[in-house]
Amino acid sequence: MNLVIDNGFHNRDVEIVSSLFYTTGSMLAAAAHAVIYKRITCSPTSGFHHAGYRFGGDFCTFNGLMVTALKLQALGKVKSVGILDCDAHYGNGTADIIEELGLTWVKHHIAGEFFASIEDFGSNGSEYFKWLEMSINDVSTCDLVIYQAGADPHIEDSLGGFLTDQQLMSRDCMVFKGARRAKLPLVWNLAGGYRRDAEGGISPVFHTHRATAKVAIENQFDMY
Ligand SMILES: [Zn+2]
Repeated sequence: MNLVIDNGFHNRDVEIVSSLFYTTGSMLAAAAHAVIYKRITCSPTSGFHHAGYRFGGDFCTFNGLMVTALKLQALGKVKSVGILDCDAHYGNGTADIIEELGLTWVKHHIAGEFFASIEDFGSNGSEYFKWLEMSINDVSTCDLVIYQAGADPHIEDSLGGFLTDQQLMSRDCMVFKGARRAKLPLVWNLAGGYRRDAEGGISPVFHTHRATAKVAIENQFDMY
C-alpha cells in the first residue's frame, strides 16, 4: 500500500493501489451479506486468484477470495467455505494460501486445473460439466460458496477459452440452481475476461457478465 513493492500488474501505480481497498472490501461485504441473509450476492470485482501468501502477479495483488474466507471464519460467521473457481486459469494463489496456512475447512475446486485444451472438455463439454456437477455437490454442505464466474473460458477469449455462450450459460445455471436447491449462501464475482470489440472496448466481456447476472437473479432465493 505504500508503493514499496510492485502490485499484481508489476507496477506501482497509485490508482491500482486505491482500487485494492474496494475490490477486497466489496468481496467481503457481498459475502457477509450472502451469509447473513442466506442469498446469492454479487461482488463486481476481479483480480484475486493469482495472489498468494507472499506474492502477487497476473493482475492479482491481494487474494480477496481468501481474505474473505479467513475473515468470515475468524468472525465465527462460517465454519467452512467452498471456492468454485470457474475462471479459465489455475488459481495458484488461492491454492498457495490454503497450503501455507494448512486450511482444511476450505474446499477449493479449480476448473483451470483440469481444462486447458479443447480435448479436456469432452464432446459438447461433457467432461467439464461432469467435473462441475461433482464440484457443486462437494461444496453444497459449506456455509458459503465463493464462485469465480470468469468470462475468460469463452471460446473467443484471447487468454481462454473453450466454452460457447450457451455453455457458459449452462455453467452458470448449474451453479446458481445448485445454490438455490441447497439454500446455499453464494457470492459470485467477475474474474477474468479479455475479449475486445472492434474499437478495443470490453463490451463482449460485459455481455458474458450480464448473462451471468441474469441467471443469478433468476435463481435468487430468499430464506426469510
Ligand atoms: Zn483467467
